[in-house]
Amino acid sequence: MFKYDVAVVGGGLAGLTAANFLAREGKKVVVLEKSNRPGGRAMTNDKNGVLMNLGPHGLYLSGDAMTILTELGISIPGGNASKSVQIHGILNNSVQVIPTDFTSIMSSSLLSWKSKFVFGKLMLRLMKLNVNSIPEVSLKEWADAEISDPMIRHIFYSICRLTTYTNAPTLQLAKPVLKQVQRSLKGGVLYVDGGWETIIQKLKQQAIASGVDIFTNKNVTNIEHHGDYQSILCSDGTVFDVADCIVAAPPKEAMKMIKGAEQTSLHQWNENAISVTASCIDLGLKKLPTSRHQFAIGLDQALFFTNQSRAAKLSEDGTLVVSLVKYHNPIEEINVHADKKQLESVMDLLHPGWRHEVVVQQFLPKLTVSYDFPHMKRKENPGPSIPEMSGIYIAGDWAGHEEVLADAAVASGKRAAHQILQTNNMIFAKEG
Ligand SMILES: Cc1cc2nc3c(=O)[nH]c(=O)nc-3n(C[C@H](O)[C@H](O)[C@H](O)COP(=O)(O)OP(=O)(O)OC[C@H]3O[C@@H](n4cnc5c(N)ncnc54)[C@H](O)[C@@H]3O)c2cc1C
Repeated sequence: MFKYDVAVVGGGLAGLTAANFLAREGKKVVVLEKSNRPGGRAMTNDKNGVLMNLGPHGLYLSGDAMTILTELGISIPGGNASKSVQIHGILNNSVQVIPTDFTSIMSSSLLSWKSKFVFGKLMLRLMKLNVNSIPEVSLKEWADAEISDPMIRHIFYSICRLTTYTNAPTLQLAKPVLKQVQRSLKGGVLYVDGGWETIIQKLKQQAIASGVDIFTNKNVTNIEHHGDYQSILCSDGTVFDVADCIVAAPPKEAMKMIKGAEQTSLHQWNENAISVTASCIDLGLKKLPTSRHQFAIGLDQALFFTNQSRAAKLSEDGTLVVSLVKYHNPIEEINVHADKKQLESVMDLLHPGWRHEVVVQQFLPKLTVSYDFPHMKRKENPGPSIPEMSGIYIAGDWAGHEEVLADAAVASGKRAAHQILQTNNMIFAKEG
């Protein structure tokens, strides 16, 4: 009846994943993206040939995103960033080795011998843990009950922040965090050659090859639900009438564009959503002043440093791309000016003289890393369908069920596409 079966609003990871799953089952799909290029927060900035993601980005090798991209036949080039890297901890403004392998266990003075043994046991336990058996408790409750050594707890929380990008132990549900920690310990993390733009380009090319139309500079302002079809209105006056629509934009945007959303479950999901934000500095450096400091996590400060170029190709001329992140706690005040100073002073500690090596840099004062995460205040998992509005679905990193970050974005995109295909098949079977 219409030119397109499905409109996907938002061309980030979630939207492009959904479009691919729908198109390969024969649906005619249009992706409407408000900015001048698809990618959303997975975009990579090309700064004179130095490729910078928005802050450090690692793809969990055994996570949902990687599994689903593989299912779509998309392979991602890059290197395992977790392989043979010495992890350093920042404590009391000094740099310490974290005991993770034989050599570091022998050399580290961060923990006593007894604590090193307890820490080793905890790591082994985390790897083998049956995460499905973890009750609905906060990360803090879990850690308080399971880890008595204060320094081991510091290290544990740093690992949790690192793997989830979230600094909210009293709010985070323990199970999804421990699942993510387990993934990191078992599979490691991929730093992507060419930055995450590579993932976007591959998703985009495959979608176009399957017949998807991707329109940029299409700012969707209204979605009108007419029962058996939806009208999608853009700010330039274009209207798309479609049977189904996936909104793969942030929850506040979704609320604004869907007429009558106040009366639906989306209203509750949006009210309960807690954004995760961070401040980041990305630097292109001629060389790393202290070559042993490739990777460091804050033990008494919520931050981390990584040299992404140790595992991924991010420049042609050998410029190294390194990043520092300060995690914000959603219940604390944010001071971006102080964040920048703090990040720079950590850089001074890890890499004295770094300012002389800078080729390019970007400071991202307050970026939304994720629009929501699995937390104690959530009443239910968002999506994929909005039950009160048949034909309208949601996807995005805020629509994760037990997944977080990009895993949530990609998994929710697939979930929304599958729900449409399933519902359409059921209608078809009924009519047939
Ligand atoms: C600093 C930082 C570091 C990160 N590191 C990691 C990491 O290491 N590992 C990991 O797994 N994840 C990481 N992430 C998270 C990951 O980048 C995101 O989860 C993922 O990119 C979100 O994809 P999305 O499709 O849900 O949302 P987005 O990428 O935000 O896409 C939404 C799209 O919708 C578009 N849009 C919005 N409103 C409209 C409208 N009205 N009309 C049309 N289009 C609209 C936007 O322009 C955007 O392109 C990080 C994020 C940040 C910011």
